[in-house]
Amino acid sequence: MPPRTDLPLPADHSWHALPVAEAMAALESSDAGLSATEVERRRARFGPNRMTPPAPRPAWKRLLAQFDNILIHVLLAAGVVALALGEVTDASVIAAVVLVNALIGYVQEGKAEQALDAIRAMLSPQAVVVRDGAQRTVAAEELVPGDLVLLAPGDRVPADLRLLHARTLRVQEAALTGESMPVAKAADAVATAAPLAERTGMAYSGTLVTQGQGSGVVVATGDATEIGRIGALLARVETLTTPLLAQMAVFGRWLTVGILALAGAVFLFGTLVRDLPWGEMALAAVGLAVAAIPEGLPAVMTITLAIGVTRMARRNAIIRRLPAVETLGSVGVVCSDKTGTLTRNELTVQTVGTAVTTYAVGGSGYEPHGTVTREGRPVDAVGDPLLAALAEAGALCNDAELARLEDGSWALTGDPTDGALLTLALKAGVDPQQRNRQRPRTDAIPFDSELKFQATLHHDHAGHGVILVKGAPERVIAMCADALGADGPEPLDTDWWQARTDAMAMEGQRVIALARRGVMPDHRDLSLADVEEGLTLLGLCGLIDPAREEAVTAAAACRAAGIRVKMITGDHAVTARAIGRRFGLGVDGAVVTGPELDRMDEAAFAEAARSADIFARTTPEHKLRLVTALQADGHVVAMTGDGVNDAPALKRADVGVAMGRAGTEAAKEAAAMVLADDNFASIAHAVEEGRTVYDNLRKTILFMLPTNGAQALVLIAAILAGYTLPITPVQILWVNMVTAVTLGLALAFEPPETGVMARPPRPPGEAILPRFLIGRMLLVMALLVAASFGLFLHEEWRGSSLERSRTLAVNALVAGEIAFLFNARAIMASVLNRKGLFGSRPVWISVALIIALQAAFTHAPPMQALFGTEALGPADWLVLMGVAAAVLLTVEAEKALSRRRAAVRTA
Ligand code: ADP
Ligand code: MG
Repeated sequence: MPPRTDLPLPADHSWHALPVAEAMAALESSDAGLSATEVERRRARFGPNRMTPPAPRPAWKRLLAQFDNILIHVLLAAGVVALALGEVTDASVIAAVVLVNALIGYVQEGKAEQALDAIRAMLSPQAVVVRDGAQRTVAAEELVPGDLVLLAPGDRVPADLRLLHARTLRVQEAALTGESMPVAKAADAVATAAPLAERTGMAYSGTLVTQGQGSGVVVATGDATEIGRIGALLARVETLTTPLLAQMAVFGRWLTVGILALAGAVFLFGTLVRDLPWGEMALAAVGLAVAAIPEGLPAVMTITLAIGVTRMARRNAIIRRLPAVETLGSVGVVCSDKTGTLTRNELTVQTVGTAVTTYAVGGSGYEPHGTVTREGRPVDAVGDPLLAALAEAGALCNDAELARLEDGSWALTGDPTDGALLTLALKAGVDPQQRNRQRPRTDAIPFDSELKFQATLHHDHAGHGVILVKGAPERVIAMCADALGADGPEPLDTDWWQARTDAMAMEGQRVIALARRGVMPDHRDLSLADVEEGLTLLGLCGLIDPAREEAVTAAAACRAAGIRVKMITGDHAVTARAIGRRFGLGVDGAVVTGPELDRMDEAAFAEAARSADIFARTTPEHKLRLVTALQADGHVVAMTGDGVNDAPALKRADVGVAMGRAGTEAAKEAAAMVLADDNFASIAHAVEEGRTVYDNLRKTILFMLPTNGAQALVLIAAILAGYTLPITPVQILWVNMVTAVTLGLALAFEPPETGVMARPPRPPGEAILPRFLIGRMLLVMALLVAASFGLFLHEEWRGSSLERSRTLAVNALVAGEIAFLFNARAIMASVLNRKGLFGSRPVWISVALIIALQAAFTHAPPMQALFGTEALGPADWLVLMGVAAAVLLTVEAEKALSRRRAAVRTA
């Protein structure tokens, strides 16, 4: 290759006005694409095909944002009040609470955002390029000017392209022009002055292919693209929130108002009724407000959410929209694709049937190792013209490419059905590449799940034309006039072919029919009318697609979790039933097909959606109607999809699930969750994690509200009773601070409870705190107040010093909170077992921390001076342990009662 002259900067060109050949010349590209070394060189020059991200928010701004919260505002105001009253210690402790809280929030939110960024990076788009004469899939980021890119429905155009060829290609350019109707594209040049929306010869980065096929040469990448210049794609910023969190934020505001009102009332009561000095009362009111406000709650909830999202990602479920994390916990129906999700989507032709005989095909996967046998004897294309015709049709009417890698394995680019037919051709001794050179493709109708077939037109060098069709048997057979026999075309016996199709499908095979028709040399355009009739059937291929073992297990797990699994497939009803049986679906035999659904009225449709487990021969449109019907029935529905046509159903579903590998960009963007491994088992895992996140949020609230409440209540009770404060305001501030940074964080890390997948889904409208939990919170508050106030009164009665009594009261409160942390690890189940008591490291770390802090608070002289505490003896510590045990056992007893009551209710 001669040394390259320097490339023109693509942005300098009006590419849309250049004829294809000139554009290719200017970019020094060719039909074989760029070479690997040339790609390297250009990448060094033009950089990666990535838009420069906006500068991240500076750290100080993010830190400052932590203070922008009504709970914190109240704390700050309280600090100012304390300072004004000359209580420097109180003010400092409040300041410390605020700072520590902001720091935790800052660090954890940073971590959460990093986790989400990492997860988003897992979703980086891909592109199919031609380089060194071969097709391959690369990360869109690796594209350089001059690369040849292939476009298919559902693709996001990965860079600005000058189209080289376009076949019924339509592109939705809303991201760029705001026009929501897809625009038809063609390879012709347009006027230089044409506005962006009218440059039909171009496909712009960020726009969406809705239909057809095309190819183009990259003219601009990264920031140089049209979209890069306006920076539109970067405007999306996702906030770390979900409906529940938003709800809690509102609740937090009301709680704050309530607490302030209460503090005001207590202040007035103390000064007016009890005649206490107003300065002291003001401090008590401040302490009360600070103690009662669960200022750590928002941060902990965000952390819980982020941990959940990260855990899901680790299990191959990538969350695109955070609310899905919550919704997943209440999913009651999962509608799953068959191919690739329940099965491996590694298709292999196992049986070939022609008008004359049936062949068995050996081997598995895409490796062309295995022989084609007829009645036990090996055969190949040379000795068997019928087999040759069928294998050739399968190899030519095909968009996939098989490549042998350096390690000897075979890699497929393209559709697995196509891949299986390439492998078959090689096994039969037909070389697809050579046949393609002999009969190059002149035109094509791409496969579409609506059409359920694909057709191509080829001409050899003598000008003989042939149309090849492959697709669903009932579609293809309906187009045929005759079938190819040993001595040429024979009359077509539709019933006989139908019976053979069923026999293959009964084995769980996906059946593909192949047909062809000769055309005139000048027939160069393929339209639907050309394939409607008069074809000659070549035969059938039965493809197996092994079930994923882990998906079988996961389907059983879903059933145990009260989740109904439904299979929605474009495949044949008989095949679907055979596969469904492996998953325990459709055991009662009900398989509803798309055409049947179409004939049903509203009511019958709703009934079918409810009762059937398998839907076969469906189109993406049926998915949308099924989701709607199931939702109308009150279910929370997860729906999977991969194609561009699935997007409406994915959007409509409560949790739209897209395939990460087989899925189009369009499907991924419509989905709330993307499966990195396309595996049904990952959906089940995500549901489990979703339930866990919800549990943990609930546990955190369940723990925080009563402990904060109790802290405030001790003060209120004393003031109402006209008693000496059993805990001073500054001591309450201390407790509030240390529990928030230790105990308050622990529950965010809880692993799934043992029975999460053994209980029915959470009803969608259920309150986060059902009545029995509110009852438990009241019980806990009462216990904590009784323990610390009781101990205080007892010490007073014994004539201990006020300092000692208060130290015991504070420690009793903390001991009770520690005990309740263990209770809160399980909402309903008992924690009086090894797992319950010792199963969580975060819980024990935080307990160890708080014990150390309390020991310092009680025994360290500077702390004693600051907080007015007094050292305790071993006997006192034993008493505190007794308090903890009492709280633990009482709450466990309440749980046991609740369990019994729930059992009676369901019995
Ligand atoms: P699935 O739910 O199994 O993914 P599809 O919508 O992909 O179903 O396919 C529906 C039917 O279309 C298949 O049963 C098969 O008969 C036919 N089909 C699938 N892929 C191709 C293809 N690449 N070329 C021709 N026909 C195909
Ligand atoms: Mg499919």
